[in-house]
Amino acid sequence: MVVHAHRSEAILGPDLVPVSGVLRVDDSGVIRGIAPHPEPGDEIIDHPDCALIPGGVNVHNHSFQALLRGLGDDLPFLEWRARGLYRYGAHLGPDEVYLGALLAFAEMLRSGTTTVCDFFYVHADGLDNDRAVLRAAKDLGIRCVLARTMYDWDGAPVSFRETIDDAVTRSQQLRSEIADDPLLNLQPAPHSLHGASSPMIEAGVALAKDWHSPCHTHIAEESYQRQEALDQWGIGPVEHLEHQGWLNERSVLVHAIWLEKNELDAIAKAGASIAHCPASNMFLGDGVTPVNAYLNRGVTVGLGTDGGCTNSRHSVYDEARSCSMLAKVDACDGAALSAETAFTLATIGGADLLQLPTGRLEAGYQADFSVIRLDDLSMQPVHNLAKNIVHSMTERAIAEVYVAGRRVVADGHVLHLDAHWLSLELKALAGRWRAAP
Ligand SMILES: [Zn+2]
Repeated sequence: MVVHAHRSEAILGPDLVPVSGVLRVDDSGVIRGIAPHPEPGDEIIDHPDCALIPGGVNVHNHSFQALLRGLGDDLPFLEWRARGLYRYGAHLGPDEVYLGALLAFAEMLRSGTTTVCDFFYVHADGLDNDRAVLRAAKDLGIRCVLARTMYDWDGAPVSFRETIDDAVTRSQQLRSEIADDPLLNLQPAPHSLHGASSPMIEAGVALAKDWHSPCHTHIAEESYQRQEALDQWGIGPVEHLEHQGWLNERSVLVHAIWLEKNELDAIAKAGASIAHCPASNMFLGDGVTPVNAYLNRGVTVGLGTDGGCTNSRHSVYDEARSCSMLAKVDACDGAALSAETAFTLATIGGADLLQLPTGRLEAGYQADFSVIRLDDLSMQPVHNLAKNIVHSMTERAIAEVYVAGRRVVADGHVLHLDAHWLSLELKALAGRWRAAP
């Protein structure tokens, strides 16, 4: 088997101490290890004046929302939902969903994100839209988990909703369709306590148990959602999950902002994980996820960009910076959350949350990594690589990106995308929407 030895000035291993040498990657896209020198027979790929860093893991996104950028901006959550998401997002077909996913995933790859979890719910009574998301991921070469949403709240647009039977059988069918694809994965995602009925959540939890897979759900993003739980059940939202037997080591709780200490303790005790979306939470004025309180309890935390119309960026390294900054301002303490911690959440934390062998430049893991130009001004001077990546690096510094050992970004361009064509298609779509009554 051929081994490619990527030689560079610095390689950032899991301990975040840069070493010089080579990252050895075999033909199947798996890392063989970091070594001082190539071994005889290795094919050497030189990256002079560069650093190799693990690819970012974006644990929460809604790719179709990239199409809605600018339509509901600078509004309170419920108005944003009505004017942008429900008005435009509810009527998308596979062609539009594909464009949105291409846009979101291309921006992710361009900014060094190699894995995305797309929480997708515009099912339109079938699987064609879901397949369009996966096709976009496959075309661009990004590693993708489709968190296939289970949604039956009758206040939501019809195209989001399914019966429990349909949600279960379609999820099973799509999962079997992609079973042989090493870059694609499907995990269940009952939308939220308000978006999914109790039997629907139960069905999602059962699928996750069958598949030994994470189970994603939005929880306590807005303060009114906590109040709804108190009004309905007399207890907090996580207490409700716990009482129903739904809180376990497979649970991925998205946002998890408006919770009490006993609920944080319950999350830690159950071994559940948190998908933290700091920029989206700031954009929508949601509140502040108590990320340090989770980390101090040993909870796994990953970072998500959330949808392209609630952020409105797609870089998980931007999220790392936002995560650190938000924790600092929340605590009024410049030492509240370091760049190293934020970087670890954006890579290892996300990989652990999604239960995927990525996020680390270490033997046995997938060769998902970015090549960073150290001579880019945003990386200068290089006193501390991890701090520069989180706090000063701009996209310009990202020269190349690899997923499973395959190059998908070169010279700052997403290789398998016709960017000119995409931009014409998006312009035409925006024109059609503007012309619509
Ligand atoms: Zn979300």
